[in-house]
Amino acid sequence: MSSLVASGKTKELFETDNPNILKVHYTDHTTAGDGERNEVINNKGKMNNEISSLIFSYLKQQGIENHFIEQISDTDQLNKRVNMIPLEIVVRNYAAGHFQKRFALNYLDNLKKPVVEMFWKNDELHDPFINEDDAEALDIINANEIKEIKENALKVNQIMSDLFDKMNLILVDFKLEFGFDKDHQIILADEISPDSCRIITKNTKESLDKDIFRKQTGDIMKGYQIILDKLKQEIIL
Ligand code: UDP
Repeated sequence: MSSLVASGKTKELFETDNPNILKVHYTDHTTAGDGERNEVINNKGKMNNEISSLIFSYLKQQGIENHFIEQISDTDQLNKRVNMIPLEIVVRNYAAGHFQKRFALNYLDNLKKPVVEMFWKNDELHDPFINEDDAEALDIINANEIKEIKENALKVNQIMSDLFDKMNLILVDFKLEFGFDKDHQIILADEISPDSCRIITKNTKESLDKDIFRKQTGDIMKGYQIILDKLKQEIIL
């Protein structure tokens, strides 16, 4: 039996025989509002495991170093063990969520350029917004590392925006996390799925992501399935 290393809101991490590799199990838990709502949605773990596996494989193909090794079952994948940087890196192409609220914009207002934001992963403080100086001063990360992460996040944004564009979808915004691998290189980690992205249809601007759950407008599995089907058509590994 492999032992549990860590348990998050939606994933469980287990040791493997190799100390540099973790098994990640995707659960069916779905949370919103800083974990205030937490529901089990059948097969969501399977769906996100598949979607995230496909996206990470594609990003690797496009030259983005990341932690993904392979999908080993419906709900499980092997990932390189990394020392996670406690920052959520959000990239935005259109106004939505916190950004829309903060600047009193309309949903999907155009932005002149993509925005990269950072949130400090700190449960007690409810993941506050943090700027580059704050992150350096609090000794979370140094200036060079921030620069590298931002550049990387924007590259991922370009690759993913182009990919979704080909699928007749729009990538509104998304969240990334990075970590240090065993050679202290910064690599992309965690998950990329409709839980962590806003993705809408080009024609009708219908949400296919976790906004369906946040706003309680329908069945998230229908949206997620559309994304998975389109990814399978578009990505050739
Ligand atoms: N996001 C995420 N995890 C979080 C917070 C945000 O994956 O803990 C994603 C979210 O799905 C969206 C993007 O980051 O695609 C921007 O979210 P925002 O800051 O607007 O917060 P929200 O309003 O979604 O809570």
